[in-house]
Amino acid sequence: MIDFSIEPEFQARLDWMDTFVREECETMDLLFPEQGAQFDPGYKAARRHLKPLQDEVKKQGLWACHLGPHLGGPGYGQVKLALMNEIIGRSNWAPVVFGTAAPDTGNAEILALFGTPEQKEKYLGPLMAGEIVSCFSMTEPQGGADPDVFTCKATREGDEWVIEGEKWFSSNARFASFLLVIAVTDPDAPLTERMSMFVVPADTPGIEILRNVAIVGDTDPDNGHHAHIRYNKVRVPLDHMLGNPGEGFKVAQARLGGGRIHHAMRTVGMCNRALDMMLERAVSRQTKGKMLGEHQLVQAKIADSIIELEQFRLLVLKTAWMIDEIEAGRMKHGAARKHIGMCKVAMASVYANVVGRALEVHGSLGISLDMPLAKWYAGNMALAFADGPTDAHRSQLARAYLKRAKPADGMFPSEHIPTRTAKALERYPDAREA
Ligand SMILES: Cc1cc2nc3c(=O)[nH]c(=O)nc-3n(C[C@H](O)[C@H](O)[C@H](O)COP(=O)(O)OP(=O)(O)OC[C@H]3O[C@@H](n4cnc5c(N)ncnc54)[C@H](O)[C@@H]3O)c2cc1C
Repeated sequence: MIDFSIEPEFQARLDWMDTFVREECETMDLLFPEQGAQFDPGYKAARRHLKPLQDEVKKQGLWACHLGPHLGGPGYGQVKLALMNEIIGRSNWAPVVFGTAAPDTGNAEILALFGTPEQKEKYLGPLMAGEIVSCFSMTEPQGGADPDVFTCKATREGDEWVIEGEKWFSSNARFASFLLVIAVTDPDAPLTERMSMFVVPADTPGIEILRNVAIVGDTDPDNGHHAHIRYNKVRVPLDHMLGNPGEGFKVAQARLGGGRIHHAMRTVGMCNRALDMMLERAVSRQTKGKMLGEHQLVQAKIADSIIELEQFRLLVLKTAWMIDEIEAGRMKHGAARKHIGMCKVAMASVYANVVGRALEVHGSLGISLDMPLAKWYAGNMALAFADGPTDAHRSQLARAYLKRAKPADGMFPSEHIPTRTAKALERYPDAREA
């Protein structure tokens, strides 16, 4: 049975979160608006404000809810997490306040899944406690979305692995205490067995940040948060591999699915906020003698946004439900993969449409930096590229369905009406007789 109701006890928690995010996390957004400020452990003023908020979230039992109890979190499951993330998505700071910020969430997940007891104690413990920040270093300058052409390699020398090569767009590397680096360990192996994952402490000699690449929203082009890194014979002990040799691809995949769906959940929250702004403006401003909301084209923007957002939200919730079913052993592993891809593809376009329409309804005020909409709108492509470009997911989804499709038997498609009618008349030759 499909049931969309929310238990009253859980609704009470959501209500608490909603008030807390609006009152406290959105205040953090205003007090500390600099891009990337959430991840900077050296930002003393921001950290001073952050700590009591994180403590309050922990007291409420709402800290790091993306992880199940077997991985050290409270484990509400993905459907409940989706509802929580819709609220968290309203604010830039909220994911850090609730211990659910990317890339730390995914990194914590794979450390919990594949880490040794020592790795968990040294890296996962402080990461889960929100004491440190981490980095996921996978994309390469010459081979972004195509791991087939990755060249950053790790070779074994005695009791050490030696990492050599370059990585691109390693977010938060400048703030991280450790980096998870994927490197080729067996170049002749098939793609899925070619690479291994390493935990590399940030103070290991040989890690050279060539540039901190900036994106839209950053103020200084040479002082962004996405590092172009060169690993110059970076040496780590053998026990700093995460998983077994050749399992890097599998380890990376384990974190990317979660990252994509969590971004999608938070996108619902941000779009809801944009929609609220659109509605407020529509009933606040007049032009041509009537409220904006009385103009039909503004009504169309509102209606289209409501419908698109509801469709997207249902897709996200269904995907979350599928992941919960897999966790419970009622669906097979990998069953949600196509749906996660659908969320990834839909996320960027729904976000661009809803935020773009809200901006338009606000006119010049919308494009100004007096409102958050222009900055959000510009972030659309970042959302589309992070965790793999939209087009790659679109193509993957289509290919998965094409694989199942069968060619038509004859010259015409199987739904060709004259052919089908002829067949129907063969079955019932007298059907049309009076
Ligand atoms: C804000 C942000 C944060 C990021 N953080 C990290 C991070 O922390 N760690 C990390 O390792 N990486 C990170 N990335 C990198 C991200 O994973 C890559 O941007 C992404 O995989 C695409 O690689 P690329 O940018 O090199 O684009 P390319 O691979 O060059 O792709 C460019 C375009 O080519 C087309 N294309 C490429 N491949 C396919 C395909 N298979 N099918 C169809 N079309 C295709 C698409 O149109 C695509 O948009 C981040 C990116 C952004 C924007």
